Amino acid sequence: MSPSSDERTLLVAGPRGFCAGVERAIAIVEQMLPLVEGPLHVRKEIVHNRAVVDDFVRRGVVFVEELDEVPAGGTVVFSAHGVSPAVRDDAARRGLRVVDATCPLVTKVHRQVQRHAGRGRHILLIGHVGHDEVVGTMGEAPDAITLVTSAREAETVALPEDRDLYYVTQTTLSVDETRDIVEVLQRRRPDLRGPAHSDICYATQNRQDAVKALLAEGIQRLLVVGSDNSSNSLRLGEVARLAGVPADLVGGAHDLPRAELAALNLVGLTAGASAPEYLVQDIVRYFEAEGWAVRSRIVLEEHVKFDLPPELSGNGIL
Ligand code: SF4
Repeated sequence: MSPSSDERTLLVAGPRGFCAGVERAIAIVEQMLPLVEGPLHVRKEIVHNRAVVDDFVRRGVVFVEELDEVPAGGTVVFSAHGVSPAVRDDAARRGLRVVDATCPLVTKVHRQVQRHAGRGRHILLIGHVGHDEVVGTMGEAPDAITLVTSAREAETVALPEDRDLYYVTQTTLSVDETRDIVEVLQRRRPDLRGPAHSDICYATQNRQDAVKALLAEGIQRLLVVGSDNSSNSLRLGEVARLAGVPADLVGGAHDLPRAELAALNLVGLTAGASAPEYLVQDIVRYFEAEGWAVRSRIVLEEHVKFDLPPELSGNGIL
């Protein structure tokens, strides 16, 4: 028998959705759009969300994979995930105007790599193969960095005997999985050093904590608004699955697993750091129309904000 409507509750996680780095990256593109003559180019997806990118494409932004697609003298925005020094050099060689939307928390990881590789240490980067952020970070010290993707790999990866080691991580990893990987590496090399505070960013940590709070309330399924190339969104689903709760990554209300939801009475909803709130609210409206109660479960309030790049903060670029 299906549950009565007053027993059906959608629990909405907080914090969820946009983080300060994504808000800043989107604000940079918004501010640049009317200021640039000709098309504004963005290298890679400005943030990993299909709806955000499609909206900018409709408004004339041209997304490119590499800088050779940007005409000489053009303007290009680097995405929130950061770029390697080789890409910055390439932009300079081509005479491009660059506005950098790299999240300051990603830049912080780059600086650690520069500092410790510069002191002769070998860097272990914990992260996912091919992710834009990982590609950019590895480019800071391509000859002195090894990517470690899992606890299993941490058991066997070659650790240079003759070098001090320092680890950094991608900012959007699973907090629990990363702890396991670091433990394996430290068991193998007790002298391994790393950052005093985790490189996993506040937004990733908080969104995972908020999902754990939903799980503690007994949700039967988790809906994560996000795109399939969004690392932090994927990790939110993993947190639920690790606890034995099914999770769906959904692009919006059109994507809901409606048949499965019909049999449930307590469902969780969250959104990755690059997913706009209007997509969450579309889903909330769908549940309300189906007679579900909607309740927030907020574990903390976020008040993080990042300044725009100096050339934009006065709105006076170009
Ligand atoms: S998820 Fe974290 S590191 Fe990535 S843009 Fe947001 S605040 Fe920055």
